[in-house]
Amino acid sequence: MCSNNFHKFADEYELRVASNELASIELTNQQNRELRITNHYIMKKPNRWRTMFALKCPKCQQAKMFKPVNTFGDLFEMHDTCPNCEQKFELEIGFYWGAMYVAYGISSALCFIAFALAFWGFGWSEYQAFIFLTIVVLLAMPYTFRLSRTIWLYAFVKNK
Ligand SMILES: [Zn+2]
Repeated sequence: MCSNNFHKFADEYELRVASNELASIELTNQQNRELRITNHYIMKKPNRWRTMFALKCPKCQQAKMFKPVNTFGDLFEMHDTCPNCEQKFELEIGFYWGAMYVAYGISSALCFIAFALAFWGFGWSEYQAFIFLTIVVLLAMPYTFRLSRTIWLYAFVKNK
């Protein structure tokens, strides 16, 4: 059972409630079960932390904020507005300057973790650990970029 069917069923249910028809409708066990699942699905709020790390829109928490990646340049491409709820992503000109501080924080933390892991964890030399942290930070850069922008936007846009 996919979520589309849940929504279809929920819409139908709401329509019936709205037109006061519900009392005259007898739901089968199967329909009752589906309805309970639907309610659960709708009532359950998506976890804001989880959707943030998944780089989803802060308002609807459904659609992805960034474009699909086909080429290297796409790694840094962002939708102008949410494909789902049309929330504007660039709130004002130069909005994402502040995200650089977030990116700086994430990269610093990553440097420390990578170095600690290599130096104390793997017992590598300082030089090797430094090379390792450089590679880790470079590889993580596209995600760091995207995550920092997402965190920055999450600080300003609340969910509905
Ligand atoms: Zn949205």
